[in-house]
Amino acid sequence: MSEFTATERTKVKRHPERANYDRELVHGILDQAFVCSVGFVVDGQPYVVPTNYVRDGERLLLHGSIASRLMKTLASGAPFCLSVTLLDGIVFSPTATGHSVNYRSVVVLGTAEKIENAQDKLEAMRKFVEYVIRGRWKTVRPPSENELKATMVLAVPLVEVSAKTRTGFAIDADKEYETGAWTGVLPFAWTAGAPIADPRAKSAIPVPANIQNYKRPQ
Ligand SMILES: Cc1cc2nc3c(=O)[nH]c(=O)nc-3n(C[C@H](O)[C@H](O)[C@H](O)COP(=O)(O)OP(=O)(O)OC[C@H]3O[C@@H](n4cnc5c(N)ncnc54)[C@H](O)[C@@H]3O)c2cc1C
Repeated sequence: MSEFTATERTKVKRHPERANYDRELVHGILDQAFVCSVGFVVDGQPYVVPTNYVRDGERLLLHGSIASRLMKTLASGAPFCLSVTLLDGIVFSPTATGHSVNYRSVVVLGTAEKIENAQDKLEAMRKFVEYVIRGRWKTVRPPSENELKATMVLAVPLVEVSAKTRTGFAIDADKEYETGAWTGVLPFAWTAGAPIADPRAKSAIPVPANIQNYKRPQ
């Protein structure tokens, strides 16, 4: 199916015209980023914790220490809400309340499944590295058995998913444009800076092209 089915929980009520359930659009937003915030509740207290993810087809993979509260809670089958946000611009309006931001965001609801099999966990770790930077895995030491044992990997199915996007200028009434304030959009983009070599590197290794020319999605 090319669209996620909106459920009672994922139907965007505020500004529904900004809602989008298109699978390709959702995948595109997810692939542009690799950091999400995961919300979950422990003993009645909500926590929202940022963490890395990989989109692997119709699921996200999360990984973390087996001691992590986030990982342990999700592994127990507790419900979670995960979100990813891309800030595309600041919207300058002629009125204080008309200011806004342009964005693309995704919200995922569900429960996670633990990946137990060592081979599958290793493959997930490869995906984690390659999702952040393609071509990196073959250049570094793979995880040891102990490192794998200390790492929990969770799969989060992309089922109950919504996207919301805002584009364009302020939406104030024409009469508001009488003020002398500048109005428009200040675009924002998430880009890599210049690489900084680790001083502990054993030899002066030139920066590889995949790092030098880093862009997302990979
Ligand atoms: C960078 C950024 C800045 C924002 N700033 C503000 C702000 O300052 N004030 C403000 O009121 N709102 C802001 N929003 C919009 C905000 O995310 C909510 O959409 C809005 O507050 C309505 O919340 P609600 O709980 O009433 O949503 P509802 O419309 O009741 O949400 C129902 C369902 O719609 C989906 N949904 C809602 N919002 C989003 C979303 N952003 N992305 C994907 N799915 C979504 C979820 O599945 C949710 O369960 C911002 C969004 C982004 C990405």
